[in-house]
Amino acid sequence: MSFEKQFGELRRKPQSGVSLSGNFGVLCYNTRPMKVAMLASEVVPFAKTGGLADVAGALPKFLSPLGVEVRVVLPLYRETRKRNLPLRRVIENLEMEWNGEKVPFSVWESREGALGFLVIEREEYFDRDFLYGTPQGDYPDNGERFAFFSKAALESLRYLNFRPDVIHAHDWQSAIALALLKFTYAQDPFFAFTRSLCTIHNLAYQGLFEKEILTRIGLPNSLFNMEELEFFGKVNYLKGGILYSTAVSTVSRRYSLEIQTPEFGHRLDGLLRKRRDRLFGILNGVDYADWNPATDKFIARPFDPTYLDGKKECRKDLLCAFGLDAVKVEAPVIGMVSRLAGQKGFDILCESLDAIFKMGAVLVILGTGEEVFHKALSAARVKFPGSLGLKIAYDESLAHKIYAGSDMFLIPSRYEPCGLTQMYSLRYGTVPVVRATGGLDDTIREYDPARGTGNGFKFQEYKSAALLSSLQKAMAAYQRKERWRQLVQQAMACDFSWEVSAREYVRLYQRLATL
Ligand code: ADP
Repeated sequence: MSFEKQFGELRRKPQSGVSLSGNFGVLCYNTRPMKVAMLASEVVPFAKTGGLADVAGALPKFLSPLGVEVRVVLPLYRETRKRNLPLRRVIENLEMEWNGEKVPFSVWESREGALGFLVIEREEYFDRDFLYGTPQGDYPDNGERFAFFSKAALESLRYLNFRPDVIHAHDWQSAIALALLKFTYAQDPFFAFTRSLCTIHNLAYQGLFEKEILTRIGLPNSLFNMEELEFFGKVNYLKGGILYSTAVSTVSRRYSLEIQTPEFGHRLDGLLRKRRDRLFGILNGVDYADWNPATDKFIARPFDPTYLDGKKECRKDLLCAFGLDAVKVEAPVIGMVSRLAGQKGFDILCESLDAIFKMGAVLVILGTGEEVFHKALSAARVKFPGSLGLKIAYDESLAHKIYAGSDMFLIPSRYEPCGLTQMYSLRYGTVPVVRATGGLDDTIREYDPARGTGNGFKFQEYKSAALLSSLQKAMAAYQRKERWRQLVQQAMACDFSWEVSAREYVRLYQRLATL
């Protein structure tokens, strides 16, 4: 059944949501600045594997000018240590009750006015090569690692006397903090007036662990029942965030509706439907200070909508980086920057490669993730030399070169909660071709060649044929140079700045006090 058919009715009903009206001078909460503690397992510039880090790094910067005092709490990973960021120790060896013992941890801070980042140090848990696991799989003690982080975050806030009006927990790694808040800290007067928001960046990742984890992290065993934290025989951290938060949000409006269906609900759709009066969708924004082709330090030549020659230089530089120097000017370059995960559509992409190259396009892919896709794409590169450029790595600089130097940007995701890469590529004049799901559907409007409206191309069905037909339309548009130039300029003019979304978050934070 189509999404529209399933949700036609739901969509017509007034959605719980936040309005954008109102006067946003300095925001006060009971005559003092509102205090928000944000808990996230990855934050730019400290550590990043995906979009969560971009959001947790950027959103706080845009909340500060609205009068919100923010502390962002994250773990101190090996990767963070390597980045040599200016951090000073604000807590040394604070002891915390953990698994029947007193266990110490330290906290480092980076401060910019009303915005502070608190980085939790515990080597045993976080001084490792990766954030969550190796390419072979997750670290087996992730349940303990992130519950420790969550509890240490709450302890740090209390120690530093930062009494939050709102705890804003992101994804399963921090969602468990809201279970701890409800049970372990139930009698703690420090958090007596604290409300909470749990933001789901990707419902597929829920943090599932064995029953025994409850005792280890200090939660009562009695929570192991279907009404509470049990989920098909496991403990589900994200379910805790959904159950025990004051409200739940997701990163696009469309995704907030999709996750209430069995198709996208990852078996939590029933619970989300129950909480739908407290479920909101706020689109992620873009930090245009970091993502701007006119000032980007990673690209060969800066450019803007009035000077697109710079983009041509970036294209040459990109092809050179992938050893594809021989590619002709007429061949459209399609870029992809992505985690290599089942969600991202690499199965239908692999089925489509033959046809894509027959159309005369060139494809450059930067990604890392699951081994099965490493292998499939590496084999494809051998099969299509001169047409497929591939780098299996995490490479910030090359990512920027791809956004800047490609003509089109392909995102064939099976589902996509928000998606940032289509918004980045728009700003770099790289026209997105996307599957119409989640935030991709909310941000991309189909290009209409007759009227010249729209900012990209999108397809509905999760099938190779649909992907190819959409790419075909994009290729046809690409041949009409003057029209294409207009489309590129239109794409660059799209504005997804954080200012708008940050205001929506503030409205929601304020509303939590009334829920
Ligand atoms: P997700 O969070 O599901 O991975 P998003 O589109 O929300 O997807 O965010 C992806 C972010 O990660 C973007 O900033 C993108 O540029 C970055 N990214 C993904 N893969 C890589 C990579 N291999 N190298 C550099 N950056 C990457």
